[in-house]
Amino acid sequence: MLVLAIETSCDETAAAVVADGRRILSSIVSSQIAIHAEYGGVVPEIASRKHLEMISPVISQALEAVKVTLADIEGIAVTRGPGLSGALLVGFSTAKAIASARKIPFVGIHHIEGHIFACFLEKPVEFPFLALVVSGGHTHIYLVEGFGRYRTMGRTVDDAAGEAFDKSAKIMGLEYPGGVRIDAMAREGNPAAVRLPRPLMNDGTLNFSFSGLKTAMLQHLSKHPVAIPGPEANDLCASFQEAVCDVLVHKTSLALAQTGVKRLVVAGGVACNSGLRQRMASMAAKLGIELHIPKPALCGDNAAMLAVAGNFYLENDKASDSALDVTATWNMDHI
Ligand code: ATP
Ligand code: MG
Ligand code: FE
Repeated sequence: MLVLAIETSCDETAAAVVADGRRILSSIVSSQIAIHAEYGGVVPEIASRKHLEMISPVISQALEAVKVTLADIEGIAVTRGPGLSGALLVGFSTAKAIASARKIPFVGIHHIEGHIFACFLEKPVEFPFLALVVSGGHTHIYLVEGFGRYRTMGRTVDDAAGEAFDKSAKIMGLEYPGGVRIDAMAREGNPAAVRLPRPLMNDGTLNFSFSGLKTAMLQHLSKHPVAIPGPEANDLCASFQEAVCDVLVHKTSLALAQTGVKRLVVAGGVACNSGLRQRMASMAAKLGIELHIPKPALCGDNAAMLAVAGNFYLENDKASDSALDVTATWNMDHI
């Protein structure tokens, strides 16, 4: 089945053409990062306007790249939520309009469901598996038993991992979004240089908390200001990243032990982090776990990732009704 996928949940306008939920024929991502950087974070109203401006050209580009037209498309997969309502509406209304005009089915996909199945575009993973989703808005461990069958095992009680990276970077004076900068600077630093807390590390649950880490960064910097660039800034970045990775790796290994599941998927924008990728790889090797982390281009927001579950639902008569609307919040356990 030839699926057109559309993603506009936050600050990326993206479209992709994917065959059989497996092969990416084209994938276009137009990022608004540079626009929002000026404000230090995503401004919802600006995001909606930019999506409106970019949605048609991005879809056209995705189609033209494979020399197909809308007449060749057999179904549409589109992000229905969670995300910014105004941003979601742009992609969702466009998908509904195309589906209605072309008389083809469309299906609304959970954005995190998209992130989880991104790795299937490289190699399908056997069910059941555990998924650690680390992104701008989520730090969740899910048990994935099949398409549409998810159980939340643990989650952040405050900030998400990506939020912690971005906020700590901002505290240090690094430009938004700071995750990538911290990753680069951490490579040059000593992870044992600064003592930072590992929140909820030994509470026995599978939950996370990152807001205290941000406060610890603030307190440290008020006593020991760092010059950027400089070796002390690199040390602080490396120490911060180590603290985040320690907790993520520990809780994930706990979830693997508790469930006895032998396959692990790590997904979302923070899965681009080089330190986390290394730490997860060594943990998986030590525990004999089959690990799947997609290449960085598939970790961040893109539309192709939506076509995996999208293709499954469309082929199994689970298309969405034309009366369906977007939803800013949406629990994965209730899909
Ligand atoms: P969600 O998927 O929860 O709705 P989102 O779509 O905004 O949120 P993603 O696009 O999946 O989130 O990920 C963006 C996040 O990933 C940002 O917080 C960004 O800083 C972080 N990130 C990207 N690359 C890296 C990296 N190399 N190291 C750490 N964090 C990173
Ligand atoms: Mg984004
Ligand atoms: Fe995302």
